[in-house]
Amino acid sequence: MSDHDFDVIVIGGGGAGLAAAVSAAERGASVILFEAEGELGGSTQLSAGMFTAAGTSVQKELGVDDSVDRFFQHYMDLNQWLLKPGLVRRFCELSGPTLEWLLGLGLEVPAQLSGNAHTPGLCRAGVEDVWRAHVPKDQGYGLVQVLDRARRAAGVEVALHTRVERLLVEDGRVSGVVADGVELHAGGVVVASGGLAQDDALVKRFFPDALAAGDSLFVVAAPGSRGDHIGFGEQVDASVAGAGWGLMLPTAEFVRHHHWQAGFPPVSRVHVNSRGRRFMDEDASYAVSGGLIEAQGGPAWMVFDEAARLALPAGYADWEADRVTDLVAGGAVRRADSVEDLAAEIDVPADHLLATVSRWNQQLPQGSDIDFQRDQTLAAKGATAPLAEIASPPFYATRVLPAELVCTHAGLEIDVRASVLDSRARPIPGLHAAGEAGGGVLGNRYVGGGNAIANAVTMGRLAGQSAAAGATA
Ligand SMILES: Cc1cc2nc3c(=O)[nH]c(=O)nc-3n(C[C@H](O)[C@H](O)[C@H](O)COP(=O)(O)OP(=O)(O)OC[C@H]3O[C@@H](n4cnc5c(N)ncnc54)[C@H](O)[C@@H]3O)c2cc1C
Repeated sequence: MSDHDFDVIVIGGGGAGLAAAVSAAERGASVILFEAEGELGGSTQLSAGMFTAAGTSVQKELGVDDSVDRFFQHYMDLNQWLLKPGLVRRFCELSGPTLEWLLGLGLEVPAQLSGNAHTPGLCRAGVEDVWRAHVPKDQGYGLVQVLDRARRAAGVEVALHTRVERLLVEDGRVSGVVADGVELHAGGVVVASGGLAQDDALVKRFFPDALAAGDSLFVVAAPGSRGDHIGFGEQVDASVAGAGWGLMLPTAEFVRHHHWQAGFPPVSRVHVNSRGRRFMDEDASYAVSGGLIEAQGGPAWMVFDEAARLALPAGYADWEADRVTDLVAGGAVRRADSVEDLAAEIDVPADHLLATVSRWNQQLPQGSDIDFQRDQTLAAKGATAPLAEIASPPFYATRVLPAELVCTHAGLEIDVRASVLDSRARPIPGLHAAGEAGGGVLGNRYVGGGNAIANAVTMGRLAGQSAAAGATA
């Protein structure tokens, strides 16, 4: 007879927690899931649900040749081999089967190519060598619904509005949690409480680069991303992996919403550095664009013209024609009647900016981009219409910088069973972690598109299996 209340306790009801709960229950474990907020979903529910995975049935149906080896090589190279290869290989091996598991549970990813994170299908949103980003129907919301249905079918109990306060530890083993002042014992605990983006002090400690955005910094991660995993880890001398890393999306300095609400900057725009030189494909993937901007070592600007401003579609919170004009008064948008005068406004050499705009006008409107190959990025998004020239005064400039904090990568270090490791790299009995709360899979470069959702669900499922195995052995 077991002396615990449940075999497995899961802390957090986002992608990682739900996957852990369902997979533990599939292994025959009794499971309870605690969720601090009033509804399940966390950042997972807010996301596009994009899921990176190799060798899937969706890829095969579309004739996309992919493999675990190829995914692993790409993942490690992009992250400059700063991650543990063993853990990353495990993740790469399991991501495909985990996507199949989700499809089996009812997730819909139609076998069609998709040009963006909003169209269900197979996308290439990152810098991946093959189409590998799976976008589900109804995006992150759809993913959470599928997992929650499976959770209910498996009889997993959920306690909403219940923020787990601390772990119970007996003789070096994690034996349960305290929530609402009540002690609950379990054979295994899975920490799936998400990231730390909503806690200023923890961002300062574990992702200080985010603060470089200054007043432009805004957080789109779910409210529950308070970094509770860090406190749990400190109770048991857990190691933290991924400190210093996270995903910051580049955006204009005045934007305060994720692009679904913010709207999109004009397509006809050129990004220049403080020397007035173009330095990037303006549509470069978020896997690399933040780093490209930071590498300029000074302010970077996006430049566009009056025709581009007037062409902005109505109905968005930030990128809206009248709002852009209104922002001129406060200086968040600079405006001038000529490119030379705009250069003076943003303190870049006028002859450089003129040459940059002229070269851009000679190439992009003709559908080619010899320097940065943006034409190919646009084609992958299904955008084949030629871009308009940047030629009609007045001209505008606004700073572009990584300012939108999406997720954080500093989690409790896990091994290939999703067991949490202590400071001597020994598994802590009874403790597992996954998602943003589990560290070691998300690296210094976000492997877009779909790195974090794949990490959450894949490692969450693994954590649930391991916790169940440990608890019911
Ligand atoms: C707008 C947006 C779009 C994104 N798009 C994508 C995308 O398309 N693809 C991709 O790969 N990544 C994307 N991401 C990132 C991705 O969504 C997250 O990294 C991922 O969902 C994290 O999953 P998780 O389960 O670790 O955390 P979450 O989904 O945030 O779940 C954690 C849950 O734990 C709860 N919790 C916290 N503390 C406690 C506690 N003490 N007790 C009980 N419960 C607690 C929280 O309330 C939350 O519900 C996006 C993120 C955002 C914000």
